[in-house]
Amino acid sequence: MPWMMPNILRNLFGTPATRKYPFESHQYWAGSRGRLQIDLAKCVFCGICEKICPSRAITKYGHKDDPNVTIHYNPFACIYCARCAEKCPSCAIYILEGHAVPADRKITYGREDVPFSEEEIP
Ligand code: SF4
Ligand code: SF4
Repeated sequence: MPWMMPNILRNLFGTPATRKYPFESHQYWAGSRGRLQIDLAKCVFCGICEKICPSRAITKYGHKDDPNVTIHYNPFACIYCARCAEKCPSCAIYILEGHAVPADRKITYGREDVPFSEEEIP
C-alpha cells in the first residue's frame, strides 16, 4: 500500500492528463493529414491525381478542355497518403492538418462551380 502513495498524491494534486474537450481544441501535429481540398482556381483538370491515386479515390469525368469536365473525390476510399498533393503540377490539391468534421458525402468538383453532391454526378 505505501508504494501506491506517490501515484495517489500525483493524481490528487496533478493537472488532468486529458484535454478538456470541447472547451480546448485539439492541436494537430505538423504534417498531420486531415481533410483533402482541391483549389478549383488552380486545377487544370489534367487528371494526374486520378492516375497517381492508389485507392482510386479520384476520378476525372471528361477531357480537360471540356467545359463540363469534373473531378470526383471519394473521401471514403481516400487513405490520405497525400500522393495527389505531392504530384499535382499546379499545387491545386492540398491536405489540411485538421479534420474538424468527418466526411459525409462524395464530392464532385466542376470547373467553376462550388462542390455539389454525389446525386448530381451525370
Ligand atoms: S487537382 Fe492537380 S493533378 Fe488533379 S486534375 Fe487538378 S491540376 Fe491535375
Ligand atoms: S490522398 Fe492518396 S488516396 Fe487520397 S485522393 Fe490523394 S492520392 Fe488518393
